[in-house]
Amino acid sequence: DSEDEAPDKQLKIVIMGDGASGKTSLATRYSQEQFGRQYKQTVGLDFFLKRIVLPGGVHVALQVWDIGGQTLGGKMLENYIYGANGILLVYDITNVASFENVEDWYSNIKKVFGRDTKIPHIALVGNKIDLEHMRTVKMDRHQKFAQEKGMSSHFVSAKTGDNVSLCFQRVAAEILGVK
Ligand code: GDP
Repeated sequence: DSEDEAPDKQLKIVIMGDGASGKTSLATRYSQEQFGRQYKQTVGLDFFLKRIVLPGGVHVALQVWDIGGQTLGGKMLENYIYGANGILLVYDITNVASFENVEDWYSNIKKVFGRDTKIPHIALVGNKIDLEHMRTVKMDRHQKFAQEKGMSSHFVSAKTGDNVSLCFQRVAAEILGVK
């Protein structure tokens, strides 16, 4: 079955964004199909592997990196996103500051990659859609930012699991040009 087959591709996906935006919850949800239990202590750089199959039978091993509660400055950010194929920029839809910080993360990422090298696929991920009634980051603002920067756009809930697998699938498909 898909678990045993050698992957055609391996992709490095990194999750970044503000503390408390739900990065660790998202990683936990995706890696273990559960919410609220720490799959590891948040002590810094860590990753898990997830094997998926894309349309057309493309087997992919996703190496998903989560920085947990850390904030990354200059050189650390560089080390972390080195070799990344995709970056998920996660914010909390009920927290405007977390969205504004994602704008900063975006600029920092661009700085690291400069103008020449291959820039990874960047995905804008609004988390906590189970709290839609408390949304403070307007849909328009999200869509405009994503469009301007050529990011793919996603809304998920790490709590309920809504769209979580789909988000990673779509990012992997986008990177590999799989329709
Ligand atoms: P991190 O610092 O970005 O890794 O964020 P955490 O994963 O530690 O989550 C921060 C807080 O938000 C925790 O209390 C989580 O339980 C909560 N949280 C994370 N994702 C969701 C979500 O999708 N919905 C709701 N309601 N709470 C969430």
